Amino acid sequence: MIVLGHWGSRPVTISIKPNCLTVSIDGPKEAIVYSFDYAGRLWTAFLDDIAYRRGLDGKMVAKWRLPGSERERQWLMPEAANALIERIREEISGLYAAIQSGAVGLNAPLPPAAELVFERAIRFDAAHSRADAAQYDAVYKPVGILPPDQYMAVVLQATEGCSFNTCTFCSFYKDRPFRIKKPDEFRRHAREVQDFLGDGLSLRRAIFLGDANALVVPMPRLLPLLEVVHEVYDVAALGGLYAFLDGFSAEKKTARDYALLARRGLACVYIGLESGNTELLDFLKKPGKPEDSIEAVRAMKAGGVAVGVIVLLGAGGHTYAEAHVRDTIQVINAMDLSEDDILYFSELVVDENLLYARDAYQAGLKPLTRDERIAQGERIEEGLRFSGRTPQISRYDIREFIY
Ligand code: SF4
Repeated sequence: MIVLGHWGSRPVTISIKPNCLTVSIDGPKEAIVYSFDYAGRLWTAFLDDIAYRRGLDGKMVAKWRLPGSERERQWLMPEAANALIERIREEISGLYAAIQSGAVGLNAPLPPAAELVFERAIRFDAAHSRADAAQYDAVYKPVGILPPDQYMAVVLQATEGCSFNTCTFCSFYKDRPFRIKKPDEFRRHAREVQDFLGDGLSLRRAIFLGDANALVVPMPRLLPLLEVVHEVYDVAALGGLYAFLDGFSAEKKTARDYALLARRGLACVYIGLESGNTELLDFLKKPGKPEDSIEAVRAMKAGGVAVGVIVLLGAGGHTYAEAHVRDTIQVINAMDLSEDDILYFSELVVDENLLYARDAYQAGLKPLTRDERIAQGERIEEGLRFSGRTPQISRYDIREFIY
């Protein structure tokens, strides 16, 4: 439902969607746009030519693009995030007061659901935002990463950490040992997440089973955890279950296992292939062989589960570049991906704290430039052949991850 009006000379559009409330206020140059979930949390904002997004952990990212340049990104310091929350809250507060007083002529009355979100958004000041983030911290271990199409999922941490934790290019789970939750503990966690999200659950699509490689959990322990998810959430209404699987050598599930998991709602598994080249995987200390990943993908697809395959562009620098392209093409072609699947190209992001930086230095690797990484992705893409309709092929920038 869309309600239109004027706030002084500024046209106002209030869009009441099933998942969020969006308020757009036209200005002399451009509109400012805010959206809130049904718990009143700020979700996105667009003002001063900058797009903002607030994560459930309270962090905010700003993105903008200058003419002729690439998109820029900046994570806000807490003070700046708080100041923005207050600025938006004041504006929304002023608009709502004007609506209540009749100073904004609307073409239809606001429905009660919209009034409720307005009232909650007005209460969502900087202190409330901090308290919300603190509750998030109490409910979750830091959510390390998600595939880009899963940023709006409900993350449920059935496991914590990564059962391998050896990959030199990955620091997401170095802070915690791997463990599998028992059903009772997981049930408590699932309910705490539900309480935390509150009516903001409306914004969420799908359930993402965390952490890193939740599907490494053996079937006899995994199935009771899935029962817990179904007990607490309407999995089908949310859009199914999603998860990562890394290190394919450890817990090999069969096509029958995946068929059983598909019946319990598993829709898609994301696997970090990184490369089809065995020597490069060894250099990265990534567990498993490329053949294991082919086998895993075939088992998933035979079981009726879609796959998301992630390739790491720039890994191994110039030393491994040719073999990386050649063997990755070969391995992906052997997976026979189809239109339900996704292929992600993720550029290697290295900082000096990563073991990869040390290993690359010791091995004398010359890194690929940004353009060379992109060209590497294009070369891989050119070599791909699909027997049916092509899968979705997309970019994955881990620096943009927000939950
Ligand atoms: S298996 Fe995946 S999550 Fe674990 S260390 Fe390697 S890349 Fe990171």
